[in-house]
Amino acid sequence: MFGDLFEEDFPSISESRWERGRKSKALHPEPSPPRGLTRLSGLQNQGGTCYLNSLLQTLHFTPEFREALFALDPEELGSLEDKDDPDAKVRIIPLQLQRLFAQLLLSDQQAASTTDLTDSFGWSNSEEMRQHDVQELNRILFSALESSLVGTSGHDLIQRLYHGTVVNHIMCRECENVSERQEDFLDLTVAVKDLSGLEEALWSMYVEEEFFDGENLYHCGACNKLVSAVKSAQLRKLPPFLTISLLRFNFDFAKCERYKETGSYTFPLQMDLKPFCEQSELDDSEYVYDLFSVIIHKGGCYGGHYHVYIKDVDQLGNWYLEEDESEPVAKAKSLKELPTIQETDNPLAVLKNILSQEENHLIPVDQLGQKLLASIEISWNKKFRKEYGPLLKFLQAHSDVFLLSSNPSKVCLRREASPSRPPPDELKPPSPIDPFQDQSPPSSEADPAGDPQLEIRAEGPQWFDLNDSQVEPIQEADIEKQFQGKESAYMLFYRKTQLQRPPEAQSNPRYKVPSHLLWEAELANRELQKKRAEYDSAVNNLTLHLHLGSSYEFSNGALHPTSYRTESYVLDLTIDKRKTLSDLRLSVFQLLEFWEGDLVLSLAKLVPAGLHVCQTLEGDELTLHEIEMTDGEDIFVWNGMEVGGIRIPTGNDTVPILLNILQLIDDNDEEKGQPFVETCHVFPSNAKVGTIFTALAFPVGLILLNTTCSRAIQLENWTVIPKENLEKTFKEQGLKDGNSLLILDSSSYNQSLTMAGGRQTNSLSNFNWMQVRNLCQADSEEEQVKVSANIETMLLDIRIRAIKELGLQEELVNNSCLRLIDRSGQLLPPVPENYTVAEAAMEMGSLLGLCRGKAPTSSQLFLFFTVGCDFESGLMKEIIVEQTISVSECLKMMLEKADLQGDSWHLRKMDWCFEAGEPLSEEDACLSDLLIYSGDTLILSEGKLPPKGFLKVPIWWYHPSFPPGYQVDPPDQMDHMIQQVDALRITPEENLYKEAPEVFQPEILFTFVGDVEISEEASLADLKSQAMVLPSFLDFSFPSPDFLRAWTMESKRPGRLLRNNQQQLK
Ligand SMILES: [Zn+2]
Repeated sequence: MFGDLFEEDFPSISESRWERGRKSKALHPEPSPPRGLTRLSGLQNQGGTCYLNSLLQTLHFTPEFREALFALDPEELGSLEDKDDPDAKVRIIPLQLQRLFAQLLLSDQQAASTTDLTDSFGWSNSEEMRQHDVQELNRILFSALESSLVGTSGHDLIQRLYHGTVVNHIMCRECENVSERQEDFLDLTVAVKDLSGLEEALWSMYVEEEFFDGENLYHCGACNKLVSAVKSAQLRKLPPFLTISLLRFNFDFAKCERYKETGSYTFPLQMDLKPFCEQSELDDSEYVYDLFSVIIHKGGCYGGHYHVYIKDVDQLGNWYLEEDESEPVAKAKSLKELPTIQETDNPLAVLKNILSQEENHLIPVDQLGQKLLASIEISWNKKFRKEYGPLLKFLQAHSDVFLLSSNPSKVCLRREASPSRPPPDELKPPSPIDPFQDQSPPSSEADPAGDPQLEIRAEGPQWFDLNDSQVEPIQEADIEKQFQGKESAYMLFYRKTQLQRPPEAQSNPRYKVPSHLLWEAELANRELQKKRAEYDSAVNNLTLHLHLGSSYEFSNGALHPTSYRTESYVLDLTIDKRKTLSDLRLSVFQLLEFWEGDLVLSLAKLVPAGLHVCQTLEGDELTLHEIEMTDGEDIFVWNGMEVGGIRIPTGNDTVPILLNILQLIDDNDEEKGQPFVETCHVFPSNAKVGTIFTALAFPVGLILLNTTCSRAIQLENWTVIPKENLEKTFKEQGLKDGNSLLILDSSSYNQSLTMAGGRQTNSLSNFNWMQVRNLCQADSEEEQVKVSANIETMLLDIRIRAIKELGLQEELVNNSCLRLIDRSGQLLPPVPENYTVAEAAMEMGSLLGLCRGKAPTSSQLFLFFTVGCDFESGLMKEIIVEQTISVSECLKMMLEKADLQGDSWHLRKMDWCFEAGEPLSEEDACLSDLLIYSGDTLILSEGKLPPKGFLKVPIWWYHPSFPPGYQVDPPDQMDHMIQQVDALRITPEENLYKEAPEVFQPEILFTFVGDVEISEEASLADLKSQAMVLPSFLDFSFPSPDFLRAWTMESKRPGRLLRNNQQQLK
């Protein structure tokens, strides 16, 4: 029953129940970090895509390329949303490149992802990504881009920017005829081997002439013969952007292997190409080029890593020198956050200022106080409280400006009071006219554009090293380091010096970005911010449970709320763990407006016995993280001295332990059912175990510890705590909450020893006699005789001999039986008389009782039964029935024997825990089929069984009040309805209380409110609703079933919390 209804299944006392609010916070994946100090975005490495990243960054930092791409109309390119529609002409590569560039410009993340772009290349695995060389990729990418832009206004984009021509001349030395051949290029490949640098290479290519003579002659078309000739080449058309690939990798034919040229190879920052060009009318300045990108290869020829040095032409990045690293940002921050002098004296202005910097202008009230302290460097209480009252009151008083949530735990700026930027829900897609273009930079620091005025910039464009996701500023002089070595320049990118950037483009990442991409980036940034805030809060926010000392009292060895009715004894406070203890104190102080006197914060621990104060928090300057404060910690807020006038024990040594103590009931009652009484007691863990006796006013005897989880009273579950250990503390003895201890005085001990030491009696089987005690005459003195026997002797013979030896009347022969008396003194059921000692599974030497009444035959069952659960009060009855009778026949016989009338009864079987088990609902089944054996106890329970498919659930109300001096059960369980829904089980205690409510039972904290008959298919929520309409339930005046918590009842105490309201009962 209830199957999966339990999320967890814990024993009646479990640590987990006390760990209120200690649920682990949902783990957010860490969002990608924001941009670093350079304010430039790197690119994630997908695994071997560093060459791609280097090239993409170069293209991105070619503003003319970027802008030409951005200029392509979305109508020409199609939309990425339609990319899976085969009929839609979607030019995915340029679209993805646009998007990536927009991200590199605007997205506030350390590194953008290239997966969408590589997907658009059709690269689906790492193999395809790794197999390229950056020079090769440059051509592949340009070619792919060109073909995907065919038929658009961007069809000549690559040609416009990168296309150049070389003209080759061969002059016949005989006829002086010149043959000319023009070659196109998008990049120039230059040799490295045996050359000192780029200029020498260009010189050898475009200045030096090559002669054909001797063996190596040229075939002149005009002369139609092999002639000597002169070959020369010049650059004819120079592109705006000149890409140069260095032939660093060569093949050594002698060794038959590839190798990398690592010798020195210089290249200039600025280069005049005029010497390498055909003569023309162009102005000299047309030939001058500036270096703006150096792709560097690090490693050997079969692998390695690429990164790129790039000149930030538009000055988008924040370039700083190493030694100034922290300064620009710190300065910008302080300028931004510090209100002006006059403002700090105006609390309204200060608070508005703080709130306007929060996302959605909303913040928990306790954080507002902390932010205020951080902002004006003095707390509210010190600066404003005297004049303006407590912070919360002030916020409430200015409801025209501040909006408080109902609790009130959060405050936000009312809309009219907030600055121009609308909250996100009011944002509409931008109009075609770029809405962000002229917008002043938002106050948020996360915006990569930042506030240019607050940045400290070097003069003019600066260089950065872009290494996948890392972007570092470098000095121009660092480029020289890449002239030679294993790590050296591999591709060079020059731009025509004449190409000027418009002033609007400077430091403006939004420049020429189409509005739909601006919009996309804006939304993505908000999403990122939100995720970071969530993550930040998940990682750094602690929720602390503040227990107010004034709402507690010290009783029974631990602290308990004076009233569980309201939750006012515990307040939750959320605080950033990077705050200091002093900040926490301040927040607590603000939360508790009416606190007077000292405010001491102590770590507390909710244990089964109640709340225990462990240690006082010290070190105001330490952060909560440093003092190892964890989420869900319980904090006791008090004066550090006393609670309700009582000095309370504190510290980890004195943690109270809640123990179940069992004592034997007086011998007189021992046969009448459960022979133990169980009570809960609390002891400090540093007290000695022996103090149990004094605490319970019990003569010093023995303590047995239940070493198993089983709650059954079976002596093999118990071990004696050695006498010398009574001097140990509870902690040293290893006793834990919920442990059960059985205490015995010396006389009970002797009896129990026979119970416990069963194995020792095995030797008795060597004896050749059985003992028989006369139990027929209750009044007379008990007599006992030894009857000689062996294991083959029939019980009938033993009985007859015993009657003779005891000198009893002959009539007893026909109306008596022998019953084994077990080691606890209980009479076991009689067995058929034709059994031998061995067949009856008796041991030689056992004690038998001679009782009135017949023994059952072998086709009969000897059953105990009781009305309700009266077996404790001695009304256990016995009956002999045929094995084959039905449940209803048996019920009838038992009712007759108990002298009971009516048909509103049913039978249950008592289980081995002395508790009522499942009802015997199959009325026509015969007893033997239901596995009912001789010696079983049946219970005559009142009430008709519910119809098939229905359950009858007794509902108990858990009392919020309890008698003084009684150890309360867990505070969590107070004020909640307890439903004993476990298979219609009625425990003895419950029925006793039900039938005799005037009897005071200290263990019982429940009131029976009635039974609910409900379908097995109903849910827990249905059950709660039905329970609400029970007449006696109305006294509790609960507004709705939502306020109820249901627990199962398991032997006097709440068992398991039923959590899932939707779960079916069955
Ligand atoms: Zn010729």
